[in-house]
Amino acid sequence: MATKYIFVTGGVLSGVGKGVTAASLGAVLKSRGFKVNIQKCDPYFNVDSGTLNPAEHGEVFVTKDGAETDLDLGHYERFLSSNLTQQSSTMSGRIYRQVIEDERSGKYLGKTVQIIPHVTDAMQEAIINSSKGFDIHIVEVGGTVGDYESTAFIEAIRQLRLKVGPKNCLYIHVVFLPFLEASQEVKSKPAQNAVRDLREAGIICDILVARADHAVPKNILKKLSLFGDIPLDRVLALPTVDTIYEVPLIIEETGIGDIVCKELSLPNKKSKLNDWTKLVSIIKKPNKKACKVAIVAKYLDHTDTYSSVVEALKSAAWSFDMDVSIVWVDAEKLTKDNCQDKFNKIDAIVVPGGFGNRGIEGKILAAQYALQNNIPYLGLCLGMQVASIGAIRMAGIKNANSTEFDVKSKDPVIDIMESQKKQKKLGGTMRLGDYKCDIVKGSLAHKMYKSEHIVERHRHRYEFNPKYTKQLNKGGLVISGTNPETGLTEIVEAPKHSYFIATQFHPEFTSRPLKPHPLFAGLIGATQKQ
Ligand code: GLN
Repeated sequence: MATKYIFVTGGVLSGVGKGVTAASLGAVLKSRGFKVNIQKCDPYFNVDSGTLNPAEHGEVFVTKDGAETDLDLGHYERFLSSNLTQQSSTMSGRIYRQVIEDERSGKYLGKTVQIIPHVTDAMQEAIINSSKGFDIHIVEVGGTVGDYESTAFIEAIRQLRLKVGPKNCLYIHVVFLPFLEASQEVKSKPAQNAVRDLREAGIICDILVARADHAVPKNILKKLSLFGDIPLDRVLALPTVDTIYEVPLIIEETGIGDIVCKELSLPNKKSKLNDWTKLVSIIKKPNKKACKVAIVAKYLDHTDTYSSVVEALKSAAWSFDMDVSIVWVDAEKLTKDNCQDKFNKIDAIVVPGGFGNRGIEGKILAAQYALQNNIPYLGLCLGMQVASIGAIRMAGIKNANSTEFDVKSKDPVIDIMESQKKQKKLGGTMRLGDYKCDIVKGSLAHKMYKSEHIVERHRHRYEFNPKYTKQLNKGGLVISGTNPETGLTEIVEAPKHSYFIATQFHPEFTSRPLKPHPLFAGLIGATQKQ
């Protein structure tokens, strides 16, 4: 069977849930038994998301093969329960870089290199390469149609229809319907204009998804159908719901799954969404009282920065038939004097990943407080580094630090290893993506993973300095996971503690709503034993 392509574009405004819609449709089609892949095409001129400021752009998600991507890939992986690769994240910068490199190497044989066809061809190639081996390939184009910068991607997906044939291609446009408080009505004009904008670019959408914060009256859908030239049964309202994990259920309810199969001549198999239905009923009405987890962080204006951590905590809590209430603690404001106050009613503490000096002393304090007061603790990447620094300081090495925060530190317990120092270029020294970890038998990590050999995703530059292992032990922590090839420290834990574990890797990236990560489940489980 030829691969079927579903292109998801957006209109009116961004941030209305185009990514969640695309991912949910993916979940629905996967549950119908198809092999589904998904790709985000972003109009940014960055080559990847690695250098994007998390305070502005949200979390940098990391794939197993070490791609630093937009947080939408996290949504995709969670909805599809699959591991994506670099090929699922295509930014304009990457495409243009390739075209310029090809031009330099003479690939264009003296031709004038232009956006059409050269850039648009490279974009189509990236889409086709990513789709190989799948029944259905969903492509989300970032931004809104009409944006100057996404024009080339829109043109590329228009041309792809010719290349793969209209029967193998479907366009879904996701628009937003604003609500006017004064007249208490949902308005359709901006959505009509958005459909027109898409048509101006040469694409007539097959399905129009109308997102709205209020119920959408039938006459509005009729208007959209008439002015948009789209059959009424292909204009669907998708009102805002309590939880994003309900969207696959709603999509199936509205009939989008059936329409997609019909339009693409796919066998209309039955979907199996029982797990999602069960999950949504727990999310809506958990039986147990919520637990309180503090996340000690620095980007508090934009909690999207920690989106995978939050989702992993929620999924873990749902697996205990409860909710989690997240308390954001500003690391910069945490002091010895207010620690007790801030953590008084907290069931568990998480210190997530991060880069740079800001808030670091507060994070070290939080780890020490959890260690000394038997509060369940999960440290993620930087969270492991601060836990190690904290423990070693408690063992009497007062100046213990990371060379990331104090280049001249006399006691560099977190440092760049000799082998890395040779690689001068910044970025070249990062450990990115999957690395193996061997776990010490009988440790807490072993108990949680139920395995001695695991693979987890990384995104960091500094490592625990093994010269300080004795002092680490004296401070109450032991190493329970190491990389078999390099001997680098992967996991530390406190044997005499109810639950204190910290990892150099990022378990939050592989946690799924239907399959929470064991270390997060362990943390929530520990709050129930207090
Ligand atoms: N800044 C630390 C490092 O580079 C931790 C990185 C992280 O938490 N992702 O090693």
